[in-house]
Amino acid sequence: MIKKVTEDSIIVEKDEEREEIKTKNFIWAAGVTGNSIVQESGFETNRGRVPVRPDLRTPDYDDVFVVGDCAVIMNPDTERPYPPTAQIAIQMADTVAHNLKQMVSGGEKLQSFEPHIQGTVASLGHTDAIGVVFDDKNYSDVQHPL
Ligand SMILES: Cc1cc2nc3c(=O)[nH]c(=O)nc-3n(C[C@H](O)[C@H](O)[C@H](O)COP(=O)(O)OP(=O)(O)OC[C@H]3O[C@@H](n4cnc5c(N)ncnc54)[C@H](O)[C@@H]3O)c2cc1C
Repeated sequence: MIKKVTEDSIIVEKDEEREEIKTKNFIWAAGVTGNSIVQESGFETNRGRVPVRPDLRTPDYDDVFVVGDCAVIMNPDTERPYPPTAQIAIQMADTVAHNLKQMVSGGEKLQSFEPHIQGTVASLGHTDAIGVVFDDKNYSDVQHPL
């Protein structure tokens, strides 16, 4: 179990024994959690994120919306949560704006959120990247852009 990451080492613990491994590179692949404030907010949470209804309201409150990294929605194809990304956060804002307008004006039909994933890109060092853009897998460097 990783206990601590410093500028030039990581501290791991096994069988109650701690070991320091010297390194300047560290790739975290154990997932992320939401903000601790959300975890402690009293809302139902899943790893610090609120599992919102399709219209982005919390499970328990009809007048509370949660969006962006604080919210979690499931991908029905993978049965896994969508990763928290800016593209989803921005798209959620449109749905919430529409739904708030509906509620304020007395409308009853709230919109369900449907993410449109444009792609995913990961940087590999300073000059390279790998990604899926509009369903097309690409690998590129700065001399040969995607
Ligand atoms: C290293 C990294 C790389 C990423 N790369 C990508 C990418 O390539 N593509 C992509 O789509 N997404 C990427 N993301 C994810 C993306 O940044 C987030 O999903 C997105 O910013 C979520 O938007 P948000 O508005 O929910 O939260 P944020 O953008 O995190 O905004 C939350 C705001 O709340 C403020 N805040 C926090 N706590 C408090 C408090 N107690 N009181 C007041 N203010 C507070 C913060 O300062 C911040 O300004 C990346 C994230 C990281 C960390």
